[in-house]
Amino acid sequence: MLDSTDTPHIVFDRITKSFGATEVVPPLDLTINKGEFIVLVGPSGCGKTTTLRMLAGLESVTTGAVHIAGRDLTHARPGERDCAMVFQNYALYPHMSVRENIGYAMKVHGTPKEEIDARVGEAAALLGLEPYLDRKPRNLSGGQRQRVAIGRALVRHPQVFLFDEPLSNLDAKLRVEMRTEIKLLQKRLGTTAVYVTHDQVEAMTMADRVVVMRAGVIEQVDAPIRLYEEPANRFVANFIGSPAMNFFEVATRDGAAWLDGQRLPLSPETFARIGARDRVTLGIRPEHMDGGDAPAPLTLRCDTLEPLGAHTLVLGHVGEEKVVAQVEPRFPAEPGQECTVQIDMSKAHFFDIDSEARL
Ligand code: ATP
Repeated sequence: MLDSTDTPHIVFDRITKSFGATEVVPPLDLTINKGEFIVLVGPSGCGKTTTLRMLAGLESVTTGAVHIAGRDLTHARPGERDCAMVFQNYALYPHMSVRENIGYAMKVHGTPKEEIDARVGEAAALLGLEPYLDRKPRNLSGGQRQRVAIGRALVRHPQVFLFDEPLSNLDAKLRVEMRTEIKLLQKRLGTTAVYVTHDQVEAMTMADRVVVMRAGVIEQVDAPIRLYEEPANRFVANFIGSPAMNFFEVATRDGAAWLDGQRLPLSPETFARIGARDRVTLGIRPEHMDGGDAPAPLTLRCDTLEPLGAHTLVLGHVGEEKVVAQVEPRFPAEPGQECTVQIDMSKAHFFDIDSEARL
């Protein structure tokens, strides 16, 4: 049987975008499979929204091509692409009821009333909006308004859902609930989805594959767990995970990494891969500093403790370098004193000091 998730659905073929003389997206290639949930993530201004808008047809493509379902739609109008977009500000019509908002696009297209009613009813049922169909947007909560905006996209039964930071106007608790809802709905419908956010947690929790962007360039495309376990470079390593990965400049020799005069043994395979180097970047996630498969003691100066209940963060220094370690709640550390954490060296990452690529 053909696995639908391996069928290319959207293909960006060396697309670029320039505003005047400024190229904000250099040649970008990306293939998105049918039914996949893809999240574009990266710092503000990295070109996520511009890329999404080029897919929607809301922004022209400077060079290159966009294919959807095997058709070259590079220059097609938004209405010809069968993509439905959900915006950050919801863009609801304030004078229309929820029912009218959800059905509006179909009404404009001359869809018969019975069909509009049926599809609005179906979307409202999926989104739990049935009790609110006759309300105006101003009489809804933020989460309900967001559901109406999704409902408007849903009723069109599009080939592709596009989301532009749809949850950023919601409070933290609702954001967590809505991201689960959107993900479940997308899986239930099997509709390909492209979702833009600057929030790495949102990206990790929602995506089948995450596209990490920096300055218009794709740094890595991978499943969330692979981004976490095998970041392609220091930028991705730093962007994914919270608290962020610690980076230390170390030397490698005699089968170990040397940090501030302390010896951190490496497995023979790791040492063979990295080799002896005077300067190399060692990356250790805070959550890998409390034992594990290959524990190695590291003594650090504790500056502050942050007890978070399930675990405690030790904020300190090793030599001149800052460090954050995530340890068990009753870990013996005192601000102003030295303490010894156990680094799990089987989880250590190494990056070239100049190119910042993973070693
Ligand atoms: P954010 O998360 O802040 O929305 P983003 O990653 O979505 O950021 P874009 O909105 O795609 O980034 O913008 C990418 C770059 O293109 C930015 O440097 C932005 O200033 C620039 N840009 C976007 N739209 C235009 C425009 N119409 N004219 C000129 N420059 C633009």
